[in-house]
Order: sequence, then structure tokens, then C-alpha cells
Amino acid sequence: MKVTEHIAQAKDTLISFEVLPPLKGKSIESIYEHLDPLMEFKPAYINVTYHRSEHMFKKKADGSFEKVEIRKRPGTVGICAALMNHYNVDTVPHLICGGFSREETENALIDLAFIGIDNVLVLRGDAPKNEAFFEPDPHGHSYASELLEQVVRMNNGIYLEDDLQGGVKTKFCVGVAGYPEKHFEAPNMQTDLMNLKRKVEGGADYIVTQMFFDNQKYFDFVEKCREIGITVPIIPGLKPLTSRKQLSILPRIFNVDIPTEFSNEILKCKTDKEVEELGTEWLINQSKELKKFGVPILHYYTLGKPKVVRNAVAAIM
Ligand code: FAD
Repeated sequence: MKVTEHIAQAKDTLISFEVLPPLKGKSIESIYEHLDPLMEFKPAYINVTYHRSEHMFKKKADGSFEKVEIRKRPGTVGICAALMNHYNVDTVPHLICGGFSREETENALIDLAFIGIDNVLVLRGDAPKNEAFFEPDPHGHSYASELLEQVVRMNNGIYLEDDLQGGVKTKFCVGVAGYPEKHFEAPNMQTDLMNLKRKVEGGADYIVTQMFFDNQKYFDFVEKCREIGITVPIIPGLKPLTSRKQLSILPRIFNVDIPTEFSNEILKCKTDKEVEELGTEWLINQSKELKKFGVPILHYYTLGKPKVVRNAVAAIM
């Protein structure tokens, strides 16, 4: 079922979870162990992230280095199929521009349609770890809006080859990312919002936000979106903050602020357990307030911390 259908049929705020594919060589069981404690909350769907390949340098026998491409977390499409099978739940695979040609994207979408997946979250992706700027594949897309356009064209039966006009119409419900605290590359909030509007006008069915720790940032973002005519559902993305290190890692990687009140309390904690308890309490309060505000779905980034997410969701059910 499509994300938008879940929202339309819901009588209350829904729950969704996001997981990462395991590192290459690990079993799908690690995902099941991660999700098992969360499934009692009957999530509307589960998102599975996509990870581009990275360039690494391998030392050869003669002492020289060889540049190799390694994808550390492959398997997004397979994991979606496995989760649908195992839990009978809808899944939302992420699709990224980075490292993909248009043709590879088309083939991935064909696979997803054959598996019976109704949703995709389309994203640009970031630059690989050891590169400063995002560079599109020579035959790929530069922005999420272009990837979105390709999905929408396939939903209209238009494939890449000229002689394939009028092919089978896929039926993907398409989500895009939004940034309550601005995307780090955008020169200002207004420009970023207009780029978000471009994605919605291009056919995006809903928006999922980057994580935030201050609900007011989300409320302001929703208000600004509505002011410029963005009417689609805006699903808040929530992540538990459970370690001191995250106080500097999260702002650096995700360009988000940690409210002073929260960071001061974390700095006072003497043990990891205390930080985790505080992080859980903060997540519960955020979730309760968002639910009261009437958000359609609470989307949890569960990465590595299913227990904390479990405690938070249990507290609001
Ligand atoms: P875009 O919408 O393309 O925007 C990127 C930047 O370009 C923004 O600054 C925007 O303002 C600007 N821009 C957009 N269009 C134009 C234009 N036409 N001209 C000029 N500027 C423009 N990354 C992964 O690799 N895998 C994942 O699975 C993944 N999942 C994510 C899930 C969520 C909910 C979120 C919020 C992010 C996720 N990311 C993921 C990270 C994401 O790929 C990065 O944040 C990336 O830097 C931007 O992606 P985007 O889709 O928002 O890009």
C-alpha cells in the first residue's frame, strides 16, 4: 500500500521506522533482530536506506595503490522484499542519484515494481566520504528533482528508450526529503524551500524531514511550506540522541542544532545510561507534542538504537 493511502485511511498518528542495510557479509537476521522488538507497534511501513559505493585505495603487491569501488551496505532492494515477506509490512526503499546512471535507476525501478513495492523515497545522496562535493554519475541525475522526474515519467509509462513510450505504467508513491533547519548546501532557507517546492510541483506525494531536536523548528518549517503553497503531508523524522559524542557528530553530519536545554542536561550526565535515559525522555516528549500537533506519521530513525525507540513509542501508544 502507498504511504499516502496509509495516511488517508489512518484515524490517528501512524508510526514508521527506518533501517540501514547490514554491512556486506552480515546476515539479514541482524535486521530482523533489530526490528523484532518494534513490530508490535504495527508500523505503517519500513524505510530502507540506500548507500552509494565509496572509492578506496588498496595496496598492491608491488607497493602501488589501486583505486577500487566498494559498496559497504548493499542490498536495499533485497531487504525490502525480505521484510515484506517476513513481516507482511509495506516498505519504502530509498533511491539516490549518486553513483547511478539513468539506466541503472530505470532497472532498479523495474525490479521494485516487479517485487510489488508501491513506494520510493527519492534523494540526491551525498558526496562519497573522501570527496568534498557531490558529483553526479556522467549519465545520472544532479538533483533529487531530476530523479523524481524519471519516476514520474515511468508512472506515466515513459521509459528511457524512445521506442518504449507507452510501456507499463508503474504506480510509485514518491517521497522526498525536507530540511527544517535548511540543507547544508543551500545558500538560505528560502532558496531551499523553493527547491523543495520544485520537487512537490514535480510530483512528490509527501515530504519526510531530516531529524530535528526542537519541535518548534518543525512547526516553523511546516508553516513556511504551507505559506508557499506546499500542501502535501510533511512527516517528521525523529532520531534518539543517546551519547555525548552525538552532541558534536549530529550537528556536523546532519546540520542540526541541539537545543541548549537538552545539551546542558546531557553534559551533566555521569554515565552512558543516564544519557540514554535523558535521550529517551526527550524523544518521548518530542513524539507526544508532535502527535498532539496532528502529524500524520512519526518516522523514527532507529539506527543502532531500537530499544530507545521502542521505549519512546511504547510511551505514546
Ligand atoms: P536535493 O533535493 O537534490 O537538494 C540538494 C541541494 O541542492 C539542496 O541544498 C537544495 O536546496 C539544492 N537544489 C535542489 N535542486 C536544485 C536545483 N535545481 N538547482 C540548484 N540547487 C538545487 N542519503 C543517502 O545516501 N542514502 C539515503 O538512504 C538517504 N536517506 C535520507 C532520508 C532522509 C529523510 C533525509 C532527510 C536524507 C537522506 N539522505 C540519504 C541524505 C541526502 O541524500 C542528503 O541530505 C543530500 O545531501 C540531499 O539530498 P536531497 O534529496 O534533499 O537533495
